Amino acid sequence: MTIRTRFAPSPTGYLHVGGARTALFSWLYARRHGGTFVLRIEDTDLERSTTESVNAILEGMTWLGLEYDEGPFYQTRRFDRYDEVIGELLEKGLAYRCDCSRERIERLREEAMQRREKPRYDGHCRHRQVDPDKPHVVRFRNPDEGLVVVDDMIRGRIAFDNRELDDLIIRRSDGSPTYNLTVVVDDSDMAISHVIRGDDHINNTPRQINIFRALGKEPPRFAHVPMILGEDGARLSKRHGAVSVMQYREEGFLPEALLNYLVRLGWSHGDQEIFSLEEMIQLFEIEDVNKAPSSFNTEKLLWLNQHYLKQGDPLHIAHLLSYHLGRLGIDPTSGPDLVEVVEAQRERARTLVEMAEISRFIYQDFEQIEPAAAKKHLRPAARQPLERMRAALAAQEDWSVEALHRLVEQVAEELELKMGKVAQPLRVAVVGRAASPGIDVTLHLVGQEKCLRRIDRALELIREREAAAGQ
Ligand code: GLU
Repeated sequence: MTIRTRFAPSPTGYLHVGGARTALFSWLYARRHGGTFVLRIEDTDLERSTTESVNAILEGMTWLGLEYDEGPFYQTRRFDRYDEVIGELLEKGLAYRCDCSRERIERLREEAMQRREKPRYDGHCRHRQVDPDKPHVVRFRNPDEGLVVVDDMIRGRIAFDNRELDDLIIRRSDGSPTYNLTVVVDDSDMAISHVIRGDDHINNTPRQINIFRALGKEPPRFAHVPMILGEDGARLSKRHGAVSVMQYREEGFLPEALLNYLVRLGWSHGDQEIFSLEEMIQLFEIEDVNKAPSSFNTEKLLWLNQHYLKQGDPLHIAHLLSYHLGRLGIDPTSGPDLVEVVEAQRERARTLVEMAEISRFIYQDFEQIEPAAAKKHLRPAARQPLERMRAALAAQEDWSVEALHRLVEQVAEELELKMGKVAQPLRVAVVGRAASPGIDVTLHLVGQEKCLRRIDRALELIREREAAAGQ
């Protein structure tokens, strides 16, 4: 069997994590089975669909690396095709025109509510001849009885009674086709074998299966993915924090960390937590996805992000870091090799935003030394080691990490001081605070000119303090 899956977002907002997980599952299913992954933009809701949203969705998928093999197909370009199918259904008597007034439909609804029943269209126009030139909708003639059984790959067997389903509108009075019709025409024309989507669509599935059958087509297999909850058990939404995939990029997450997080959200393989894309493709089974909703846990995502920061290819991380440095107004080419920055900082940050923040000193002079660090480390006792270091660094030609290491050691030995007594004031002078990578690496990354300038500033501060104390 040829496996073809699709992701079919409605472009009414950004790509959110729930959509991204559905896309990932569809993508994995196709990749795992040597199939094809199709992207389809369901933009028939002209009022709510926007080009910005299409771009945001494409951008999110590109960032995650979920590349599609076919598409993007736009439903708005297929209106003729939908009309053609609606025409066929009308001709075969499998659909009919309905001109029931809004008031009549409203009355039916109210009566059903009074009887505590689900509102349903009563089939009033099923046998009437409605003038095609007068305003009307087209309804699908749903079978009157029998069961529609969905053999869902995640949820198992679900049976729906046709008596519960009414004749749904497939073309509105303005001539536009509705979701359930367009999805079926597309899934059929695009030969989709497996529909993997959010379980908010589960009630549409029996209706779609009936339309497939009316068209003489075999319906695809379905897998309905449960929703994602926030940590408080409510459906994940903006108030829980970031829900847009690109927001995670802005916050300094690596795409591989987000993908790894999303694949584990509702799916597991033993107690393995870390999955490369290759492993996901090899191991992912849609049947093993949990039926129950899963909750989003930002701490776990951070943990994965840190893992990928520590273990990932430094060149790859450097490319991603470059973007975040840019956001701080830093030109990454104005400093040392970014790979060296990544190697120095990767143990010290949980996100790329943090990594960029703690690397700022490499590029930009800081406004002031952190007061607590200055108070503790830039005392009069630090003046001599700093002056000696200043002189030694000014004369230093070899700016390699090893040479700088030896130099700091030498100065400490000469002054008969512990390394820390030299390195710590030096660090505070050069970094502006008491935490940074090893002093040798720090000096190396900052470069000679900036180091000397900053040591001069720190010495000035010490002298001012001495003068103030002497008064
Ligand atoms: N366009 C629908 C949505 O964004 C998905 C339709 C489907 O996957 O069948 O919710």
